[in-house]
Amino acid sequence: MDHFLYRDGELYAEDVPLREIAATVGAPFYCYSAATFTRHFQLFDEALDGMEHLVCYAMKANSNQAILKLLGDQGAGMDVVSGGEYRRARAARVPGDRIVFSGVGKTEDEMRVAIESGIRQFNIESEPEMEVLSRVATSMGTEVPVTIRVNPDVDAKTHEKIATGKAENKFGIPISRASEVYALAANLPGLKVIGIDVHIGSQLVDLDPFRLAFRKVADLTEQLRAEGHEITRLDLGGGLGIPYERSNADPPLPRDFGQVVREEVGHLGCEIEIEPGRLIAGNAGVLVSEVIYVKQGEDRQFLILDAAMNDLIRPAMYGAHHDILPVKEPAPGEEPATYDIVGPVCESGDTFAKHRQMPAVGVGDLVAFRSAGAYGAVMASEYNSRPMIPEVLVQGDQFAVIRPRPTFDEMINRDIIPSWL
Ligand SMILES: *Cc1c(COP(=O)(O)O)cnc(C)c1O
Repeated sequence: MDHFLYRDGELYAEDVPLREIAATVGAPFYCYSAATFTRHFQLFDEALDGMEHLVCYAMKANSNQAILKLLGDQGAGMDVVSGGEYRRARAARVPGDRIVFSGVGKTEDEMRVAIESGIRQFNIESEPEMEVLSRVATSMGTEVPVTIRVNPDVDAKTHEKIATGKAENKFGIPISRASEVYALAANLPGLKVIGIDVHIGSQLVDLDPFRLAFRKVADLTEQLRAEGHEITRLDLGGGLGIPYERSNADPPLPRDFGQVVREEVGHLGCEIEIEPGRLIAGNAGVLVSEVIYVKQGEDRQFLILDAAMNDLIRPAMYGAHHDILPVKEPAPGEEPATYDIVGPVCESGDTFAKHRQMPAVGVGDLVAFRSAGAYGAVMASEYNSRPMIPEVLVQGDQFAVIRPRPTFDEMINRDIIPSWL
């Protein structure tokens, strides 16, 4: 489902050889495929065909404005989780009435900015937040559409750091208390309660948890309607996983997800929103890095790359797997080598893979981390005073740097040495 393929003996992004981009911007860098982004968005859009719907891209997965513009132009909405993301989406010319605001800790300032500049809805996550939003909206002389995020207490069967739908997680209100909380919200000025929101986690590779959660939302819809609430919109969140390891069985597709939505909530006549992030962005990007050294250890070979955990933290943070391919296509039948693949950062956590079998590579060769388009660049830092790596977007045979690498001076001169030192 992506556009990173070998052609004439080397890895291409659409119609551009990654080698050519490396020669222009220098390794390491992120490279995204516009066609892959567009295709993934369209797959979700088509999956909900026949139901009134909006696909709100969860922009925390990859929030470069070029990506937001690309998806916004296709008709995508955005799911934002901070005032910064809201501003970024608006800067990329996404209309406010296509932006939904999620997150457990929205501040008054964030609420005000979004109300002033236009918002589709707030997804509220607690009673205290509801009261603050009511006060802010009232003080601005307006009424804002809201859904309330419920926590369905469903096991998403994913990594514990990205599971969000169990009772022990900080997200949403317990679904058992929904009746009470909706009654409270209905009586607060400045809020127009229009729906229900749910998001149970990320990198789900099984549809059953979605089905369970959506069924609970459907039951709740009927219950709340019986209690006199007008429920016209269901935000069903994101979370559909991607195949990080090509050798494994493929996870369900957007159309399978869409089918579950249809079966579980299709009869309710509600407008449907979904918030996919990873599936749209993940396989639309690679991280390209150069081999600095091949080092012989006591009992293993280390492949030391110029990319590190500060550029792509998923392996260190979640124990995540990324397939790593040589940019130059290996000859058929070539014996694979086994490496511990590491970066230059001064901690052992800076390990991308252990005992990884892959085609042999040497100093100066380029490798590509697949599935690096989501939760890659957005989670990068300058740890070890390593400048943030550039991001490049390819469309057909053209490419552009969509975020340049800062110079060392730009990075260093952000610090201020006080005059009294
Ligand atoms: C992170 C998040 C998403 C997107 O999750 P993916 O796994 O990237 O699809 C959607 N909605 C909310 C509220 C989120 O926090």
